[in-house]
Amino acid sequence: MADIECNFIDGDGRPQLGQDRQHLCGVIMLERQLAEILGPKGWSPAADSAPWSRDWLNRYGEPPLGVARPISTAEVAAVMAATHRAGVAVVPQGGNTGLCGAAVLGRAGGVILNLSRMAGMEPPDPAGDSVTVQAGLVLARLHEALDGTDLMFPMHLGAEGSAQIGGLIGTNAGGSQAFRYGMMQDLVLGLEVVLPDGTVWNGLRGVQKDNAGYQLRKLFCGAEGTLGVVTHAVLRLHPAPRQRATALLALPSFDAAVQYGRLVRAEAGEFLQAMEFFSETGLALALNHVPALTWPLQSRGIAYLLLELGAGSPLVPLADIMTALLEQGMAQGMIADGALAASGAQRAAFWRLREEQPEGQRLEGPQLKHDISVPPARIADFIAQGNDLCNGIIPGVRINPFGHLADGNIHYNLTPPVGQRDFAGHDAALGSALAELATGMGGSFAAEHGLGRSKIALADALRPKVERGLNRRIKTAFDPADLLNPGVILADTDK
Ligand SMILES: Cc1cc2nc3c(=O)[nH]c(=O)nc-3n(C[C@H](O)[C@H](O)[C@H](O)COP(=O)(O)OP(=O)(O)OC[C@H]3O[C@@H](n4cnc5c(N)ncnc54)[C@H](O)[C@@H]3O)c2cc1C
Repeated sequence: MADIECNFIDGDGRPQLGQDRQHLCGVIMLERQLAEILGPKGWSPAADSAPWSRDWLNRYGEPPLGVARPISTAEVAAVMAATHRAGVAVVPQGGNTGLCGAAVLGRAGGVILNLSRMAGMEPPDPAGDSVTVQAGLVLARLHEALDGTDLMFPMHLGAEGSAQIGGLIGTNAGGSQAFRYGMMQDLVLGLEVVLPDGTVWNGLRGVQKDNAGYQLRKLFCGAEGTLGVVTHAVLRLHPAPRQRATALLALPSFDAAVQYGRLVRAEAGEFLQAMEFFSETGLALALNHVPALTWPLQSRGIAYLLLELGAGSPLVPLADIMTALLEQGMAQGMIADGALAASGAQRAAFWRLREEQPEGQRLEGPQLKHDISVPPARIADFIAQGNDLCNGIIPGVRINPFGHLADGNIHYNLTPPVGQRDFAGHDAALGSALAELATGMGGSFAAEHGLGRSKIALADALRPKVERGLNRRIKTAFDPADLLNPGVILADTDK
C-alpha cells in the first residue's frame, strides 16, 4: 500500500500534532486499507453502517468506523491484522440477535466485523455424523439443508431465522433441546478461529474425543467474541427422529408443571425431545399482539407446557407413550386441558405459541429481560419468590416467565404495570434482586444469553473474585491489547 499523507487541522484551524494526529492518521490509513482488502461489497463506511450498529433491543451500539463484511478466512485475518496494527477495536457480529449488547460497539470508532457473507457449508458427512460450515451460516438454513437426510442439528431457538453459527458459538446458545443434546459447546467438534492479531488457528477436527491439551474449542463457546473470530466450525449431527408426538397442555399452576415435568422425564426417558413452558401472562400478550396466533384448547390455565417426544425408529409406540402421559397427568390433577398435534401444521402452530412469547412482550412495549437458570425442581419456587420480590419493588409489575422446563432455564421477563410506561428507575434493583435469588438457589443470572455489556456488574458482584480473576487472565492471554470486543464479559480496561 502506498504511503498516505495526513494533514489535519483541529476545530480551531490549528494543525494537529503529536499522538492525536498520529492516531487519526493511523485510523484514516486503516480505513483505506480495509476498503482495499474488502472491496466495495465488503466495506461499509460509518455513514452506511446503520443496519449493523445497534443491537436487537436497540439499547446498545456506538457509531463504528465502518462495517467489515469479509467473504473468507483470509479476509478476516487481514482485517484483524490491520486493526491490530492500528490499535482499533473490533466487534464480531453474526445475526445481531443477542440480548446482552455484545455484538455492537461500546465505544465509537471501532470496526464491526459482520460474518453474514461467510454463509457456506460443505455437504454433511453421514459417516462422521458431522458437517463443516462457515460461521455466518444462519441456523434455519442449516436445518433446511439437512431436511430429507437422516441427520439433524439439534439446536432450536426463537431467533433461528437470523442467528448464525458463529453467534451461537459466541453465546454458547442453548435452546429447547439443550437438556437432551447439550449446549453449543457440546455440538462443536472443531473450529477455525482468527485470533486478535490476525493469526489463524486451524482446529477443524471432526472427533468428539480430543484431549490433546486444554479444550480450546470449548473455550471459544461462550467467549462472546472476546477471544477470537470464529470463521469455520465442524458441527456434530444427530440421527433425525423419524416420528414425533407433540402436545400442548394447560396446567393449574407452576408447581403442577414442575411435578408433571418430573413424571414426564421419568416415563418418557430418552424419547423426550422438548418440554417448554410459558405463562398465562405471556399467552395473553402473544395473542393480543401476534395476529397469526390462535388458542387451540377449550380452557386456559396458569401455566402451559409444550411437550414433544421423538424416536429414530418407527417401531416405538410414541403416540401410546404420549397418551399414557396425558392420562396420568389428568388423573393426578396436574393437567387441566390438552391437545395432541394431529398434523405437521398443528405441531408448527403449537410451537409458534411458545416461540412468539418474546415477540408478544416486545410489541407490548418496554420490558426487562432476565435470563435465569435454577435447578429444575426450584422453577416454581423461583417464579413465586421472584413474583413477591418484583411486586415489592413495583406493585402490579407484569411477569412473563417462559423457557425450558427440563434444564431449569427461565426467561423471567418483566413489563411495567398496566398504564405505566417504564419501571420508574427500578430496573437495576429488579435485576439485582432476581440475580441474587437465582444465585441463592444455586443457579445463574446468565443462563444462555451470556454477560455481554449488560450483566458485567452482576457478575462482579455475585461471582467469586477468583472466578472473575480467572476470566480476566484468560482474556489477557488471548488478547493482551484488549482490542477484541472490549467491554464485553469484563469491564473495558480503558486503554
Ligand atoms: C426471539 C429470540 C429468541 C431467543 N431464544 C434463545 C434461546 O432459546 N436460547 C439461546 O441460547 N439464545 C436465544 N436467543 C439469543 C440469541 O439468539 C442467541 O444468543 C444467538 O446465539 C445469537 O446469534 P447471533 O448470530 O445473532 O449472534 P450476535 O447477536 O450477532 O452475537 C452474539 C455474540 O457472539 C459474538 N459473535 C458473533 N459472531 C461471532 C463469530 N463469528 N466469532 C466469534 N464471536 C462471534 C458476538 O460478538 C456477540 O458477543 C434468542 C434471541 C431472540 C431475539
